[in-house]
Amino acid sequence: MPVEQRVEDLLHRMTPVEKAMMLSGTGWMETQANARLGIPAIKMADGPLGVRSWAGPSARTNAEPVLTTSFPSGIAIGASWDVELAQRQGQAIAQEVKALGRDMILGPTVNINRHPLWGRNFEGYGEDPYLTSRLGVAFIKGVQAEKVIPSVKHFAANNQEFERHRIDEKIDARTLHEIYFPAFKAAVQEAGVWAVMSAYNKVNGQWCAENPFLLTDTLQKRWGFQGFVISDWGSTYSTAPTVAAGMNLEMPGGEPMRSWMTTAEFKDVGNGAGWLTQEKVLAAVAAGQLKQEAVDDSVRRMLRVMFTAGLFDITHVGGGEIDTAEQKAVARRAATESIVLLKNEGGALPLGAPKIRSVAVIGPSAAIPRTGGGGSSLVRPRYSVTALDGIKQAAGPQVKVDHALGVTMQGEDAVNETPEARTRLRNEAVELARKSDAAIVVVGNSFKIESEDFDRSSMDLPAGQDELIEAVAAANKNTIVVIVAGSAVTMTKWIGRVPAVVQAWYGGQEAGHAIGDILFGVQNPSGKLPVTFPKQWSDSPAYGNYPGDKLHVAYAEGIYVGYRGFDKRDVEPLFPFGHGLSYTKFDYSGLKVMPEKVPAGKLVVVTMQVRNSGARAGAEIVQLYVHDVKSSVDRPLKELKGFQRVMLSPGEARNVSFTLDKSAMSFFSTAKDDWVAEPGGFEVWIGASSRDIRLKGAFELAP
Ligand code: BGC
Repeated sequence: MPVEQRVEDLLHRMTPVEKAMMLSGTGWMETQANARLGIPAIKMADGPLGVRSWAGPSARTNAEPVLTTSFPSGIAIGASWDVELAQRQGQAIAQEVKALGRDMILGPTVNINRHPLWGRNFEGYGEDPYLTSRLGVAFIKGVQAEKVIPSVKHFAANNQEFERHRIDEKIDARTLHEIYFPAFKAAVQEAGVWAVMSAYNKVNGQWCAENPFLLTDTLQKRWGFQGFVISDWGSTYSTAPTVAAGMNLEMPGGEPMRSWMTTAEFKDVGNGAGWLTQEKVLAAVAAGQLKQEAVDDSVRRMLRVMFTAGLFDITHVGGGEIDTAEQKAVARRAATESIVLLKNEGGALPLGAPKIRSVAVIGPSAAIPRTGGGGSSLVRPRYSVTALDGIKQAAGPQVKVDHALGVTMQGEDAVNETPEARTRLRNEAVELARKSDAAIVVVGNSFKIESEDFDRSSMDLPAGQDELIEAVAAANKNTIVVIVAGSAVTMTKWIGRVPAVVQAWYGGQEAGHAIGDILFGVQNPSGKLPVTFPKQWSDSPAYGNYPGDKLHVAYAEGIYVGYRGFDKRDVEPLFPFGHGLSYTKFDYSGLKVMPEKVPAGKLVVVTMQVRNSGARAGAEIVQLYVHDVKSSVDRPLKELKGFQRVMLSPGEARNVSFTLDKSAMSFFSTAKDDWVAEPGGFEVWIGASSRDIRLKGAFELAP
């Protein structure tokens, strides 16, 4: 029978008790099965950067010995701008979910990087709603193609960890629709996503899990969402208002939830749970506070997804193969494509013989793998390649590779954190750098510094790392800095003193191979920044309106997030959104925008050529920004509305084309409560970054 018929058939066989039972989990990562009717449990696992051990709450889960493929972080995928890769990653992760006997992956994260201090910046795809939408949709399609249930999270505007359970965010409707909603809307309307996870925080006075504006008006009515909403773990505060708003499944549940609720950890931070238990739901219905139809709707939505995902037809029993050759290859390709060459003066990179015959590999992240940030997304891989190992392999036998720690990672090695030990470590590194042809300093954050649950207290590198870079740079003019971090770090102290800087993000288990390959030119860098790198934290558009006061935070910068804000206030970033260098050169030419006068509702076709005029094969990410010449409302100077990743051999040229529809020209009108494309002039800017616009064209939208 068709899915809808199967759903209704089953729903009619269920008693009110059996229905109420489905609204909360039975454990940390499972829903309740129903033996009488043969309804299976939904077995979940955390994501989105791989499959995480599913037993026990976040803090304890790491102890579980389930080892899986660790893929590059979301921000790294963001930097690849590779839609097909995001889909492959989603698919590979879903295959592991099934191989391990699970049915659902808690990802992707599509929250926008509002500011550089958010502890979870590494999980999402960056600061731009269009780029985030494209990658989120692709990831979800990859997961659903495997008949695994994704859950796009966290709806909505989970942009800070500080007081994440209690913070009330004041965000105007236009900003929600233009910045914080698009990736969720695209997930619903383009990928037909099966599940959405609500966020911990409040938006405009109401917790996200009981927020009718978010869940009823927007998700269900405006976007037509057919799947189910799952709560974030411990984010519910009521029974009737929560179910009535359209929050369908409370997690976790059962005994694990009850014992968690008694802990100080639960109470101190302001978690809420235990509101959608069978007893409470039945009582709310009996008391007339909650309509039976609302309960039925929750059950219907869950059953619809379970039938669609094939949970009634096939049981994922586990025992399958994980970390396969193919999954490793996806992880390595993603790590390679995500690396951004930020600076490269005087051909400092790539390294290699005959010029460079010895390198000193230095720093707290050189010989210790930093696969991901901290929290529920952290995967434990079977192996991971360190930068040092990757560099050794890529450098080959003609280059001597030596290692010195230089400085320990803040908080990792108390013995070496005395002033004397620090000086000794630094001097050893400087000595090694002095006698080497080049020095590679691998710095950045760790999963204990950049993590879910708390924000970074500053944009600066952890203790001693700036000093290490400065000292090494003074000893060796060929000093290359590699940054392993999920968001921008302050570089102003030393950026002028080193010829090359590489942003490697958290690259998963294959990161070391990717770093080695890029530094030694085995691979040509092609990543571009999915976030603006400010010179300093005070340049961020959110500065002054974060982390809020007395549990309130105003998103006063409105739609001017990321490059939109830097443009608006005319602030020079350290590296702009979309920036990334290559070992080859790309020429842009031949822009055509057709037609010149566009009838309302018709498409605009933009074509141009990109040519590899250098000596190496490489990929260029061509970016299309739309500039609205005149508007009745204030609009960003430019907005990303298209991009393409183009692989070119030396001398090769390729025609690139983009299609712009109404959504590329529209803003969200609060007066009309809808998207509006105003007639008049528009410009199309084609760039190699948001601040390296190479071609400009125009069209006019007819009334
Ligand atoms: C996180 C979610 C995660 C869930 C389950 C929460 O604390 O915010 O992203 O999926 O825990 O581990």
